[in-house]
Amino acid sequence: MSLNDTASAERVHIGFFGVRNAGKSSLVNRITNQEMSVVSDVKGTTTDSVRKAMELLPVGPVVIIDTPGIDDEGELGEKRVKSAKKTLDMCDVAVLVTENETLNEAENGLVAIFREREIPYLVAVNKADLKQEFDKSKLYVSALTGEGVEELKERIAEKANLKKKEVRLVADFISEGDTVILVIPIDESAPKGRIILPQQQALRDILDAHARALVCQPEELEKTLDLLREPPKLVITDSQVFAKVMKIVPDSINLTSFSIIMARYKGFLDTALEGAEKLDSLENGAKILVCEGCTHHRQCEDIGTVKLPRWLKEYTDKELNFEFTSGHGFPDNLCDYDLVLHCGGCMLGDAEMKSRADAAKSAGVAFTNYGTVIAKLNGILERSTEVL
Ligand code: SF4
Repeated sequence: MSLNDTASAERVHIGFFGVRNAGKSSLVNRITNQEMSVVSDVKGTTTDSVRKAMELLPVGPVVIIDTPGIDDEGELGEKRVKSAKKTLDMCDVAVLVTENETLNEAENGLVAIFREREIPYLVAVNKADLKQEFDKSKLYVSALTGEGVEELKERIAEKANLKKKEVRLVADFISEGDTVILVIPIDESAPKGRIILPQQQALRDILDAHARALVCQPEELEKTLDLLREPPKLVITDSQVFAKVMKIVPDSINLTSFSIIMARYKGFLDTALEGAEKLDSLENGAKILVCEGCTHHRQCEDIGTVKLPRWLKEYTDKELNFEFTSGHGFPDNLCDYDLVLHCGGCMLGDAEMKSRADAAKSAGVAFTNYGTVIAKLNGILERSTEVL
């Protein structure tokens, strides 16, 4: 993917599900006009989910995910079924591909999961080229002839629009003409030659709102504030330098962090605020799962694996145990943990972040994120959410 492409987290994730041999992979190849998945008459050819980022008109930038059959058997089969179900965690729209007019037990089970997880879904009856009679209430497609494929794409676009969000990263709580200062430390953990995704997105959002952005490192913040004839509407800082920045920015100026606005944008700020309260009741031996959403941007590693564990131990004055995960890996069972502490999740889609927060909720485990916790540790949680 080139630097100008839409980030994966901002793409609509469309998962194709079904039993083995329903023709999922052929249909995916037909929709994408590419040999994205290996197709054969042998059941269970797709052995792991296959993902591809692309433009799919009329939907726009998407990630298409082809999954293994959900009726696969044996030990390996069970792993594939698990992999297919895990894919649901990241789906904004699901397409159930079937060759049956009446869904079988496994397919009905999938529909029940889509409904339970509130994932907008479609049922596409494949192999229309082999059928003699058609039920008008159903959507027929043929991976072989292409029949119905354009309609399927349009229906996917309709479903994707259901998920279109009103919330913006910054643009919906600032106004035209406002000045916003972004504080971005460039230290050894900053990626070489660029700024990270939340910072890029915030800049773009400020431009979209016809507001003005000033960007500086913490060392230049005081002088940057002095330059302005009127105070800025808002200062957004990297969480790691919250403590330093809060001493410079007067109380009369709104102050928040990239991590907090990202939690709001991803739809789990309330959960994160509630989860941060757990810090006050952690006992000796408490187990904390620290999750990072990607492995290839290690700039957050130091904060997650070194600084936060140290700060939490100092704040709670307790012996705490930490475990770490990164990328798309996330434990199935969270019951053993007392707290899940997540990074900003800028590389993960909304659906995946929501499914993680929901998984913690159903296990009765507090869920929060780095920026919210750092604001709490510095006693400025209330201040940093006031402007939102
Ligand atoms: S670790 Fe999390 S916040 Fe940091 S870049 Fe990766 S997804 Fe974004």
